[in-house]
Amino acid sequence: MRIRVGHLYPDYLNIYADRGNIAVLEQRAAWRGHELQVQTVSMGDRVEAGAHDLLYVGGGQDREQALVAHDIAGKGEELRKAAAHGVAMLAVCGGYQLLGRFYRERSGAELPGAGVLPLHTVWGDRRMIGDVLLECELEPGSTRTLAGFENHAGHTILEDGAKALGRVVAGFGNDGSSGSEGCRAGRVIGTYLHGPLLPRNPWLADWLLAQAIGHQTGEAPILELLEDSLEDLAHSVSSARARARGGRAR
Ligand code: GLN
Repeated sequence: MRIRVGHLYPDYLNIYADRGNIAVLEQRAAWRGHELQVQTVSMGDRVEAGAHDLLYVGGGQDREQALVAHDIAGKGEELRKAAAHGVAMLAVCGGYQLLGRFYRERSGAELPGAGVLPLHTVWGDRRMIGDVLLECELEPGSTRTLAGFENHAGHTILEDGAKALGRVVAGFGNDGSSGSEGCRAGRVIGTYLHGPLLPRNPWLADWLLAQAIGHQTGEAPILELLEDSLEDLAHSVSSARARARGGRAR
């Protein structure tokens, strides 16, 4: 199959090698005989209805977020329609914040968001930095762990009806106190986890690929398992670092 991916603002939102997430999706799709077709969707571009099976947006400093905020807010209706039609989405850190309603930055100015996820973010003077480990259940009865790295000043508040992506085992997560990390709405995943995220969490990469294929076929397939010993090692090293982190660890 040809899996159509829209990469939002790769020229503005790409820190901590977030671009690497696309490379992982590309390779894991190819190992199953699928092809990833990646299209850049940036300033002034439209999110054409039905053009994508998966949308991806990386993280960025406040300065870059301020540059893209009004543009992504202008794409809000298209992005909400895409989510409603079952397009899979992965949004990391600054991109995650801009999928919410707004990000109130240090100056107090509110950067508008796309309003895809029921949340908002407020800048705080304590940066939340370090390795993170969370437990999440994307499929009922299947609890998995996600390991990554966070670096954000934004404190994200989940609003009524919002579902966290996971429970913080070690690290800060959305706000350093609620014990929740990220947000999940159907096939839309938002998270603070950089790293990049997917090389050390191959199960999530496969889940996103399956959801993207499901957007085309109507049903997310069970993808054949791959030999992931290196990825699993990266996951366990990252998890051990998070657990050993101490500090704000729970
Ligand atoms: N600029 C945002 C914050 O500090 C997001 C940072 C990021 O993407 N790592 O919270």
